[in-house]
This record gives sequence, C-alpha cells and structure tokens, in this order.
Amino acid sequence: MDRARFPHDAHNPLPLTAGTIGLAGRTGMTQYVPDAQDAADRIPFIPGARAHVSVPLLMRGEVLGVITLAAVSTGVFDEDMVAFLERLGRRAAVALDNARLYRQAEQLASDMAALYNASRTITSTLNRDEILRRIARAMSETLECSSAIIFDYKSETQEVQVLAVHRADPDADAGESLPPLKHTYSLVSYPAFQTVVEQQHSLALRADDLSLTYMDRAHLLADHMHSVVLVPLIAQGELMGVAALIEGRHPRVFTANEVYKAEALAGQAAIALRQSMLFSEIQELETLKTEMIRMASHDLRNPLNSIMGYTELLAMSLEETGMTSAQQMYLENLRSSSETMRVLLEDLLTLERIESERAAEWQSFDLGGLVVEVVESQLAGARLKQQALRLERQDNLPPVQGSVTQLRQAVANLVGNAIKYTPEGGHIEVTVRHEQGRVAVSVKDDGYGISPARQARIFERFYRAREPGTEHVSGTGLGLSLVKTVVERHEGRVWFSSAPGEGSTFGFWLPVASQP
Ligand code: ADP
Repeated sequence: MDRARFPHDAHNPLPLTAGTIGLAGRTGMTQYVPDAQDAADRIPFIPGARAHVSVPLLMRGEVLGVITLAAVSTGVFDEDMVAFLERLGRRAAVALDNARLYRQAEQLASDMAALYNASRTITSTLNRDEILRRIARAMSETLECSSAIIFDYKSETQEVQVLAVHRADPDADAGESLPPLKHTYSLVSYPAFQTVVEQQHSLALRADDLSLTYMDRAHLLADHMHSVVLVPLIAQGELMGVAALIEGRHPRVFTANEVYKAEALAGQAAIALRQSMLFSEIQELETLKTEMIRMASHDLRNPLNSIMGYTELLAMSLEETGMTSAQQMYLENLRSSSETMRVLLEDLLTLERIESERAAEWQSFDLGGLVVEVVESQLAGARLKQQALRLERQDNLPPVQGSVTQLRQAVANLVGNAIKYTPEGGHIEVTVRHEQGRVAVSVKDDGYGISPARQARIFERFYRAREPGTEHVSGTGLGLSLVKTVVERHEGRVWFSSAPGEGSTFGFWLPVASQP
C-alpha cells in the first residue's frame, strides 16, 4: 500500500462526522469503497486514496476503534480481504477490551493501595496536630491536587478555623493564596461551607462555574483557586471538621471517583481525630490521678506520723495506770490500721520517686550480686513461715546497666510476694542466669497462685487478685506495677505464669550492659 500523508495525530482528533472512518465508528458497520471515484459521498479521510476500507472494532455493541486501510490505486482490496479484516477486527476488539479492563483493574488496585497507605499513615499516631498534618498531606497526595486545608468546625460560633495546611510543591507555580493557621471564616460569608456543614456531604466548586453563588465564586477568584472540593470529616455521626482539596495550578474538574477517594480518606481521618481526642482526655485524667496520689501521699505522711506518735504516747500513759482488755484491743487496732496506711504511703512514695528518678544515676553492676543481697535480707521472713527459700546463681554473669536502688526494690517485691502468697512450709526458688545477651531473674513459688481470670490485671496499680486463702495477706497492689515500670525503663521485660493452688513464677530479664 502506498504511503499517504496522514493529517491527524493524538492532538488533532478526527471528527467522527467526516469520512468513512467516522461512518464505521458511528454505525458500527464495515465501510468498503473499492473505488472512491464511484462513491463521491463516501470520502476517504486520507487525501488522495482511491480505494479504502474501514472496519469497526466492536465489543458488546460498543465501538472501541476503527481499522482503516487506504490505497492510492484501485483493485488492491477485494471481498476476501475485507472478510479477513473483519475477522482481524473482532480479535483486535477482544484484545483492546482486555487491555482496557486490565488498565481499569490496575487503576482500581493502585487507588486502593494509595487509600490504604494514606489511611495507615493517618491512623499511625495519636498526636492531634500530627494527625491533622498527615490528613492534609495524604489527601493532597492521593488526589494529586496543589494544596489541602483542614478546618475545625465550631458550631457555637458558626465558624470554621484553619487547623492544618499542606502545599504539595512549594516551588510549583500554584497561584492559590492559602490562609495562615488558626484563621477563621464565618459560615455566613461562605455559603459553600454552610452547605457542607448543614448537609454533611461533599461539594465540588469551580471558579469557572457560573452557577455558583456570587460569594463562593468571588472567594475562589480572589484566592486564585481554580477548583475546590469540600469534604466533611464525620466520625460516629459527629462533624469533626471539613477538609478542602484545592487545585490552584490549572482549571480542573474533580471526578466523581476522586471525590469518592477523598470521602473514604475523610472517614478514616475523622476516626483518627476522634481517637486522638479520647486519648488526650485519658492522658489528662491519668496525669490528674498521678498528681492527686502524689499530693495525697505527701500531705498524709505528717498527720499519720503524728497519729502513730500519739498512739504510742497514749499506750505508754495507759500502761502506767493499767489498761482494760478492751482498751488494749482498741490500741492494737489503731496500731495496725496506721501501719497499713504507712505501708501504703511508703509504696506510693517509692513509686513516685522511682518514676521521677533520672537516668543520670545509672551504673553498670552485677545483677547476680544484687539478687543475693535481696534473698539474704528476706531469709528471716521466709523462716518465720517455715518456707525454704533457695537461690541458684550462675557464675560469671555479665553486668547490666541501670539503677541499683530501683532494681533492688523490684527484686525485693518479687521475692516478698512469693513469701506473702505462699502458705507456711512452702518452697521458693530464685534463679539468676545469663541467656542470649540478657540476664534473667525468676522467682518460683508453690503458693496460692492466681486464677486465669485475674491474671490480666495484676500489673495494674492498686489491683489485688484476692484469691481464696490470701484474704489475710496485706498489701497495696502497687508492688508489681513498680516492678513493671522499673524493668521496662531498663529496656527489659517482665513475665509470669501461674496456676491457682499450684504456684506462680514471676521473672524478668534485662539486656547485658553494652561495652563502654
Ligand atoms: P500487693 O501489695 O497486693 O502484694 P502487688 O502489686 O505486688 O500487690 O501484687 C498484685 C497482686 O498480684 C497481689 O495482690 C496478688 O493477688 C497477686 N500476686 C503477686 N505475686 C503473687 C504470687 N507470687 N503468688 C500469687 N499471687 C501473687
């Protein structure tokens, strides 16, 4: 076939109204012109062609394309050739359709991946400002728009306030002017915002859309925004704010699919925002609680000391005059109750001291030696209950790094608990070992044990499992919480296993100190 000059290209599409290609495209029927001179009404689109044939590529009744052949002389094409071309057309249409479906599926998969990644980045923090920044960035990146703003909605004043602003590429020639953080807009002068807030659905606005309200268009034009999508951020039916996705580089129509993507992200973002709000409320309560405990324990120590002092004075003067048995009982009650309070306050203050101690006093030391010391200091307690307290310490333990006072307290709590929660005549075995870069301590007893239902809470402050048989054991429920705080602060882990009636093993490990 001779080559003829082809006047059209991708930037200059062929009008479907002209020529046999157009006819094949419009009607879905093969156009075969053996000689153009006999068919003046059916002009070839390639100038100078004498014979031409156009076969539509049909798929499910839809024309996907047209194959056209043209020749400068007649007699090049015949019926067989046209039939062959039609067969080829059918195969080509299937191939084209497959390719199109494949592209769609690929697009869908990449949209899903982008959404998934974006929502994962948004939800991977609990810091509110960080979440807001991430939402703005994720939205602008997912929709490839030039900037995004997140607004807070204040229902009392009917205003929206700027919480986060993200500009995609600060160097690009995006002309939109963006508001500073904390800037507020009154809904009265921004009808589009009002609609989004009231109806709680998204709205796409374009500066070249003459049907917009005068005010909305004036704002877009003044701020050099070609196109804006406003998306409400809603979590559990509550409006948390509004996101604005802005195109300031060129006119743009946000497609329905893009708005849908923005809405999907907005849903995730609103939940993340809500969670961070709940989290900070809990954090505030936690701080308040700690503060109250701290104040109460400091403030109670002096009056308690004076109660205990006067109790002893009272006892002394009553002893001089002789005491009735009832008076003796009252005094005993006074003594034991104030002793319980003293232990509670001591535990609270130790916990507080340990929590506020700085790492500056840390040193490299032998944990094995510390465990020996602790076990020795508790031998008397175990002997009182006729318990066998044994220690197994591996030789040549490597040193660990940390606070001797804190770890002494932690080990003492574990050994003390084993003695407390094991009946008379029981067995307690303490071991210290070196295993895989760690020094591990464990305390095993054959005491009362803890039932599975109560095990989950034993590291909570003030929690006491109160298993049958342990009613007479006094305690504050602070010991294990201290052990956990101390061990985790030393980059170690606490563990335990326990069975009611059989006993418990509590243990922890610390990393071996790195060489200086
Ligand atoms: P407490 O001051 O009550 O001993 P802890 O925080 O040290 O507080 O321990 C919390 C609870 O865990 C205890 O009240 C007890 O019920 C349980 N517990 C701790 N150690 C043991 C153990 N070795 N055997 C059985 N129960 C234990």
